[in-house]
Amino acid sequence: MPQPNYLTTPKILYIDDDPINRLLVNRLLTSYDFEVIEAETGLEGLTIARNDPPNLILMDINMPGLDGHETTTRMRSIPVLERVPIVALTARSAKGERELALAAGCDGYITKPIDIDNFPHKIISYLEGHRDTMTNDERQHFLGHYSHKLVERLESKIIELEEANNRLQKIDKIKSDFITVAAHELRTPITLVYGYARLLQVVATETEQTEFIEGGVADLAGRIYLSVQRLNEVVNDILNISLIEANEMRLLQEPVNLAEIINAALQELNPAKNNRQLNISLERLDTLPTFIGDKNRLRQAFWNILSNAIKYTPDGGSIEVKGWLSSAPPPDGEVLVSTSHPGEESIIILIKDTGIGIDRLEQKEIFQHFYTAGDTTYHSSNKTAFGGGGIGLGLPITRGIIEAHGGRVWVESEGRDPVAYPGSRFYVLLPLKSGR
Ligand code: ADP
Repeated sequence: MPQPNYLTTPKILYIDDDPINRLLVNRLLTSYDFEVIEAETGLEGLTIARNDPPNLILMDINMPGLDGHETTTRMRSIPVLERVPIVALTARSAKGERELALAAGCDGYITKPIDIDNFPHKIISYLEGHRDTMTNDERQHFLGHYSHKLVERLESKIIELEEANNRLQKIDKIKSDFITVAAHELRTPITLVYGYARLLQVVATETEQTEFIEGGVADLAGRIYLSVQRLNEVVNDILNISLIEANEMRLLQEPVNLAEIINAALQELNPAKNNRQLNISLERLDTLPTFIGDKNRLRQAFWNILSNAIKYTPDGGSIEVKGWLSSAPPPDGEVLVSTSHPGEESIIILIKDTGIGIDRLEQKEIFQHFYTAGDTTYHSSNKTAFGGGGIGLGLPITRGIIEAHGGRVWVESEGRDPVAYPGSRFYVLLPLKSGR
């Protein structure tokens, strides 16, 4: 069969959700030396056509998701597809269907079932420039009809989305409630195991009467004790997140020396004990005024950021903790930080590491609960080992605590690069107004 004069085989994109139709049209057109690319949905077709515009698009009209009319209209607004012939291929043969397809942007209209003998000729005629037409009056009429149809579809989609969103919110609430109840239920047995393991350790140490036997009862009881301690921390984190989510975190109002709690957190983490070689320095923290807030909660907030800085910075790297007042000039090399309410005095704490850094797109996400960036294969519960991760509750808890004190926490990093180590800078801003 003679074909239009293309340098290469004409490429036809066929969009149809029905695999049997696709098979039939594909067989037929490839036997006439066309190259056929298939797409199952309007959205898939859009992506394929945009990336590699075909010579002609065959468009099924009745499809779930974006239907053929809508896909065609969308294609017409993409510059590379503006002139590509689009031919509707549809079982709809009622009066006005052809005009509706043309009003949506199609150039032609072929009805199913296809006439096998004529079909390839028709495709060639469209490739050669044939276009179906209608009068201007008809076009006006069917465009009006089409826009009403689109608004109706939009309305029903919005209703569907709202219903789906309500369902998801209900499911999310059931899930959160379940997690909270489960965490509460776990607390009692954990406390018992914790107590008995400690007791067993003490009794066994006394009866073994030697310094330490590896694999002995005291050693094993000690290991159980440590594991239960970790389990307890996870359960507490989950309960804390539930309190934060429900806006029920109660804060004590006591004088807090921030230098003291940051030092205490660092001493507890003690990376050197785990053979980590890190240079940790503190700057100007002791010049900060006393903050009124919840000491333990704030200690936990800084502990989480510091533990991450240690975990994600390789040996030989450094962690700097700096503090200053928003009204004072920042320490050398640091930039001015804007407060949420200009003129309001705030304490700014910067925790700066030379670690693997955080992808720009993930810098907001990491404050969402259960979000752990990067590859979770290497996660371990170790608090100071390089690369060790947790369950992704540390930063959401930190954010909850800082926000409950009226403050803000955010991160800046040039991106994640486990080779170049661009580092991360976590800022905590605590307004003095609420705290004095
Ligand atoms: P996790 O319990 O996994 O440590 P967090 O909420 O504390 O959870 O942190 C969430 C994620 O943020 C971590 O899994 C890690 O990918 C990333 N992250 C946090 N702090 C740092 C940091 N200082 N450097 C690089 N990545 C970090």
